[in-house]
Amino acid sequence: MADDFDLVTLGAGSAGIAMAIRAARHGARVAVLEPAALGGTCVNLGCVPKKAMWLAAELAEAQRIAHEVGFDQPPARLDWPAFIARRSAYIDNIHASYRQRFAELGIELIAARGRLLAADRIAVGARELKARHVLIATGAHARRLAIPGGELGIDSDGFFALRACPRRVAIVGSGYIAAELAGVLATLGAQVSVFARGERLLRSFDHEIGDALAAAMRRRGIELAFAHSPSGVERAADGYVLHAADGSRASGFDELIWAVGRDPNTRDLGLEQAGVELDAAGFIATDEWQNTSAAGVYAVGDVTHRIPLTPVAVAASRQLAERLFGGRPDAHLDYSGVPTVVFSHPPIGSVGLSEEVARAVHGDALRVHRARFRPMLGALAGSEERTLMKLVCVGVEERIVGIHLIGSAADEILQGFAVALRMGARKADLDATIAIHPTSAEELVLM
Ligand code: NDP
Repeated sequence: MADDFDLVTLGAGSAGIAMAIRAARHGARVAVLEPAALGGTCVNLGCVPKKAMWLAAELAEAQRIAHEVGFDQPPARLDWPAFIARRSAYIDNIHASYRQRFAELGIELIAARGRLLAADRIAVGARELKARHVLIATGAHARRLAIPGGELGIDSDGFFALRACPRRVAIVGSGYIAAELAGVLATLGAQVSVFARGERLLRSFDHEIGDALAAAMRRRGIELAFAHSPSGVERAADGYVLHAADGSRASGFDELIWAVGRDPNTRDLGLEQAGVELDAAGFIATDEWQNTSAAGVYAVGDVTHRIPLTPVAVAASRQLAERLFGGRPDAHLDYSGVPTVVFSHPPIGSVGLSEEVARAVHGDALRVHRARFRPMLGALAGSEERTLMKLVCVGVEERIVGIHLIGSAADEILQGFAVALRMGARKADLDATIAIHPTSAEELVLM
């Protein structure tokens, strides 16, 4: 096959694959360069294996609740290796389906790293490819802190390599990954301590959500340490020791997980030769149309400083493919109103502005509605845990600008309400919608 392409993507994660498929459907000749597994972080070391672990943890929690409400079987222990074999088989199927789609569309998959020689030329091993358009979609990797012992322990990649549930785990960080792994591990039987440098979990979310999650975690036996600024780690005979800047120490952990954010994969890509510039934080700088500073070179996904979520990367890539190959010259993604879910225990769903941000933007024109209630199954089991639902509304017409949920099924409830928010729904539209009874979701239309 000739080494001349309409599109070459560096990376076959969510962004690279979505772009390659949409471009090929429009008739483009496409090559995809990927030295590692197809599907990138989401499929191999993120969303997919995480959701599998979360589902296993949900089953463990369901068994505990079942026992509490009267089923005679005590909760069973998870055969971790057997479950991981199923998780891997599921991921293998995803790889196979990508390969099949690539074959059907004539996309050439090259299992190697690419390096830009210029904006339209890429070196791959001994080959040189010429490309009308190049997409950089190389993603990001877990960050480590530059402190003594920062290389010890594992990150989320290491979590997915675990073959047994650790006994006592320290998790450093308080974002998505820290919240999710803490919930999974605690529910599957580990004793978990979370070390947050701030005063709240999930700082980018509405403050009441972070506070509600902290309460739920404590109820599940997770220890939370706030205002913990990590200054060093060492490995002692009885496990990891964490030191903080204020002189405090915590010890006896047989696993340590870093969840302190992610850095973009920008090294050894030949960005300088191609004239591709980085932003101040080291991500590839892009405009609204995903253009980089080099004509014909684009970047999408976690390598850019945009919302690092799979569906966002997929949507941005498809828009870019429509613009370059689909005859829609203004196609680009609107990054506002992106719904997001944290697969914590219980799960969180959020779309739009937090109360704090809405207040900063809209001042006193704000009206906040809340529902706090014990979901039926929890109440039957005697749990004190409450679901929180919050609507942030603006103006006399009470247009909904934020929806924030924490509680059982929040992950599934949010999607439809995100559509409503996007369509400009007002509180009155929810009031006029008949409730579905008895559900948790109905509380959103009964406030
Ligand atoms: P996040 O940005 O969510 O959280 C990073 C955490 O690291 C924050 O709590 C931050 O603290 C903390 N941190 C940063 N620097 C330090 C430091 N020097 N010392 C101590 N703590 C520090 O990143 P994650 O790595 O958890 O996840 C990466 C991204 O991946 C997420 O932003 C999300 O977009 C995506 N993701 C999505 C998921 C989903 O959709 N369910 C699941 C997992 C990841 P502080 O808050 O104080 O800044």
